[in-house]
Amino acid sequence: MTTEPTNDKPQCEEAVIQKIRQRRDAGRRKYGVSMERTDLSRLDWLNHAQQEGMDFVIYLEKLIQQEQSSVCEWTENESHGYWEGSCGLAWELTTGTPETNGVWCCPRCGRRVTTNAQSETPANDDIEIGISTTGRMVVRMTGTPEIRLDRDWAERLHARIGEVLRQMPTDQAQART
Ligand SMILES: [Zn+2]
Repeated sequence: MTTEPTNDKPQCEEAVIQKIRQRRDAGRRKYGVSMERTDLSRLDWLNHAQQEGMDFVIYLEKLIQQEQSSVCEWTENESHGYWEGSCGLAWELTTGTPETNGVWCCPRCGRRVTTNAQSETPANDDIEIGISTTGRMVVRMTGTPEIRLDRDWAERLHARIGEVLRQMPTDQAQART
């Protein structure tokens, strides 16, 4: 089975041929020489070829690392109660976030999962507290997983923090400043 190349979208081979021609023309303009040049020795050509080969491997490594370090960004579709990955995955979590559910890798694309800051909280500071569209309290603190609390849990936590705060020595904080 063969496929005819089309003019608007050249096949890989055609695209490479075009690039080689462009490169030849650019080389002639820039250096005024072609591959028929005779000023390079056999060893020069071998060294050039090896250098190009080493660059090629470096470029591959760069792309491999980029691919490995790239992430799948998950956003919560709160109106439908599931999470959407940037790769197109839809994943339902009964409660919490990918972090709190221990979802570190995307089951679809295999990349590391990140969740983006969502619009429901106004400030982007060390501590963010807001209300999600499903009515839960969302607490984000730099360096910790996000916490989502229903109202009764938030009230219990609030009361408990008040209790503990009253027991905490205040001189510690003062000594640091
Ligand atoms: Zn993914």
